Amino acid sequence: MTDDTDPTRRKLLRRAAITVATIPVAGLILHPRRKAWADLPEAEDGHAHHYVNDAADADHDAYEEGQICENCAFWAGEERNGWGGCHHPDFQNVLVNADGWCSVYVSGG
Ligand code: SF4
Repeated sequence: MTDDTDPTRRKLLRRAAITVATIPVAGLILHPRRKAWADLPEAEDGHAHHYVNDAADADHDAYEEGQICENCAFWAGEERNGWGGCHHPDFQNVLVNADGWCSVYVSGG
């Protein structure tokens, strides 16, 4: 029988989740950028993964206060007026807002 409160098991599950979340970042580091960020349109709320342009509007269990695109590991830097690129594959054709958020947020940007 499995004990869900086993700290070793929780550590393993946490590490597995972080590894899965960082795979898209690693893949993009290894591949050349495909397009110029500056020419991309701005994302709309709901673009993917419960994305919102203002993290204050996030209505998702995964959201934690202080999480914004600008401090996410996928953030690629500002391109224009508070909007910037996101390295996650599902945001390759849009700019995201520095104050935005989505449910694949990874701390460390
Ligand atoms: S992956 Fe990160 S930078 Fe990209 S939209 Fe989601 S929270 Fe913002």
